[in-house]
Amino acid sequence: MAPKDFFLRRGFFHLFFCYICGIMRKCVFLSFFLAFFTLTAGAQSLLPIPEKVVVDNSHKISVNFQKPIFKRVGKEARTGLLNSLASTPSSKSGKKLLLQLVPARQQQGELSSQAYSLQADENGVRIVASSEQGLFYGIQTLVQLVDNHGAVPYADIHDQPRFAYRGLMLDCSRHFWTKEFILKQIDAMASVKLNRLHLHLTDAAGWRIEIKRYPQLTQKGAWRTESDWDKWWVFGQRQYTEPGQGYGGFYTQQDLRDIVAYAAERHIIVIPEVEMPGHSEEVCYAMPEISCSGQPYGSGDLCVGKERTFQVLQDILDEVMDIFPSEYIHIGGDEASRKAWETCPDCKRRMSGEGLSTTAELQSYLTTRIERYLNAHGRKLLGWDEILEGKLAPNATVMSWRGTEGGIRAAKMGHHVVMTPGAYCYLDSYQDAPMTQPKAFGGYNPLEHVYEYDPVPDSLKGRPEECLFLGVQGNVWTEMIPTPEQYEYMIYPRILALAEIGWSREKTSFDNFRQRAVKVNDGLIARGYHAFDLHKEVGRRQESLQHLSHLACGAEVRYVGPYHEAYKAQGDASLVDGLRGNWHYSDGRWQGFISRNRFDVVIDLGGVKDIAEVSADFMQFAGPEIFAPSSVTISASIDDADYQVLTEQTFEVDPSKPYFIYNYGWKGSAKARFIRYKATSGKYGGWLFTDEVVVR
Ligand SMILES: [Zn+2]
Repeated sequence: MAPKDFFLRRGFFHLFFCYICGIMRKCVFLSFFLAFFTLTAGAQSLLPIPEKVVVDNSHKISVNFQKPIFKRVGKEARTGLLNSLASTPSSKSGKKLLLQLVPARQQQGELSSQAYSLQADENGVRIVASSEQGLFYGIQTLVQLVDNHGAVPYADIHDQPRFAYRGLMLDCSRHFWTKEFILKQIDAMASVKLNRLHLHLTDAAGWRIEIKRYPQLTQKGAWRTESDWDKWWVFGQRQYTEPGQGYGGFYTQQDLRDIVAYAAERHIIVIPEVEMPGHSEEVCYAMPEISCSGQPYGSGDLCVGKERTFQVLQDILDEVMDIFPSEYIHIGGDEASRKAWETCPDCKRRMSGEGLSTTAELQSYLTTRIERYLNAHGRKLLGWDEILEGKLAPNATVMSWRGTEGGIRAAKMGHHVVMTPGAYCYLDSYQDAPMTQPKAFGGYNPLEHVYEYDPVPDSLKGRPEECLFLGVQGNVWTEMIPTPEQYEYMIYPRILALAEIGWSREKTSFDNFRQRAVKVNDGLIARGYHAFDLHKEVGRRQESLQHLSHLACGAEVRYVGPYHEAYKAQGDASLVDGLRGNWHYSDGRWQGFISRNRFDVVIDLGGVKDIAEVSADFMQFAGPEIFAPSSVTISASIDDADYQVLTEQTFEVDPSKPYFIYNYGWKGSAKARFIRYKATSGKYGGWLFTDEVVVR
C-alpha cells in the first residue's frame, strides 16, 4: 500500500505559512551547533517531552491560526483524514502542512501505532505516523510548538509513548459534573496525549448513569439530601430524596454517548466504572431486593447469594457495554465490608454450595462470574486491587491504588496492571502548603512528588513482568471538591506530571519539567481552566530546608510516653536532630503520639547549661485527626529529680481549623541539664505531632 498524503487545505484549516527568517538556508538546522544550542529551547516547550527532539528557534514558519486551535485541530485533522482528501494545490506561499499515513510495520504493537514523527523545515510541516492516533499526537505537538514559540520553529521530532495507558479518573458520584465540564477536561487531556478517561459513575453518594431497564437507580439513587459531602456523611451517608429534589443529577445514555464520541475523536477511550459489590449504598436503597436484608439502608454491599443480584448486574452491564465501546469495563471491587454476608442465609448458602470458606472468596466468586460475563461479550474486567483478595479472576486487570504492592503481586501472577498508588496518583491531596489551599481529603502530594513517580517498580525493572504494566492514571476523588472550579484546580497542573510519566521514557530534571509545566499550565489558565497557579506555589516549608543548631542537638531523649511505631520518624534521635519537617506528617521528620493522648519527653543536655528558650512546633491537620495540644508544660531540672516548671499553658483546640503549624514554648532565663516537655490532647483526642524540641 502506497503512503497516503493528505494536504490540509488552507481555507479549511486557516493555516498560513510564510517565512519570518528572511533568507532560507538549507539544512542549517541540522548542523551540530544549532542542534546543541536549540535542544534545550525545544525541550522547554514540549510536554510530554518527546523521545527525540531537535528544535531550531532561529528558523521559524509563521502560522496564523485564525481561531483558537486548541479544540479544533484534532477533530478537523481527523475529519480530513477520514474523508481521504485528494491532494489540493498548496497555498500561494508554498508552505504546506502535510499529514502522512505510512503502512504499519508487521506486528506493530499499540505503542508504536501511537508513534509519530514531525519535521518542520523549508518545505513546511510534515507529520508522519502509521495511525490516525499517531498523526493526532503529532498535531498536538505542533500546537504546543506554536503556543510556545508563536510560530513553528524548524524541528525534527521522533516520538512514541512509554505506556499504552495514560489515564485520568473523574469521580462523578461524590459530586455530579456536567457533560460540558467533562468535554472540557477531554480537550485538556488530549493536548498532553492522555488517552484514557475513567469515569467513576456509581457510589454511595449518587448513581449517575441512566439504566433504562431499572429507572429506579437514578430516580432514587441520584439525589441526596445534602450537597456537602461531609454533612451527608455525618448524617449516615444514606439520605436520598426524590428525583430532582435535593442535590445530584445523572447522565442520560445520550449524554454518555456524546462524551464517548467526543473523546474518541481525540483518541481517548472512556472507561466506565460501575461499583460492585461494595460502595453500593445507593443501589441497596433503590433496589433493596438485591441487598442481603432486602431492606433499604441495610448494608452498602450487594448480596452475592441471590441470583437476582447477578441478573440485575448483567442487565446493567448490557446497557453499559452498549454505551461504552471500551475494551475495559471497571467494576470497582474496593472496600466491600463483606459484613452482611456473614449472617445472610443466601450468602451462606452460596458459600457452602460453592465450597467457599471466606467472604473474600465470596467476593472473588462475584468478580469471576462477572468477568466471565464481560469476556463472553468481548470485554475485559478492570478492578481496584482488592479484587486480588480471595482469588483473582483469571483475566482481570488490576488497578493498584493501595500502594504498589497490589500491582507487583498481580504482575507476578501474570495479570496486567494500571498503577494509581494513592501517595503519587491521588490528586485530591494537598498540592501546596495546606494552609494556603482549599480543604482537601488526603495528604500532601505536590507537583514535584507526582513527578518523582515511576510506574514500574524497581523490583520488576528489566524482568518479563515489566511489560504487564500498562501504564499510569491520576485519580481525583471529589468528597472535598464541590465546584467545577475547584475540581480543575486539583487536576491541573498535577495531571501534567502524570501525562509526562506515562508518555516519556526519559525523565528530565524536575526544574526542567516544572518550567514546561508552568508554560502549559499558564496556557490552560488562559483558555479558561481554573488551574492552580504555579507562580503562587509556596513550595517546601522554609523551616525544613536548613539544619538548625541548638543546645539539644544530639542530646539523649527519654520518652516518658512512647511515639507511635507507624510515625516514629528517625526514632529516638528525631526530636533533636536539627531537622524540621515539611508540610506532611509522614515525611519522616514529624513524630506522632497517640498513647494516653500525650507527648512527654525528657531531654538530657549532658551538663548544666544556661537556657533562654525551649520550644516545639506542633501540627494540626484536622482531616486525619491530628490536633494541636490543649496544654503544654515545660520544666527544667539540674538533677532529673527536682523539676522547676518554666511554663504551663492551656489552649482551646479548634477542630474546625483544617491545618496549621504553631510554635509552643518558653522564653526566659534558667539553668538546667534536664528539660521535660509535656503536651496533652484536648477533648477531641487524636494525634499529637511534633518535629523538633529546640533548646537555646
Ligand atoms: Zn446476602
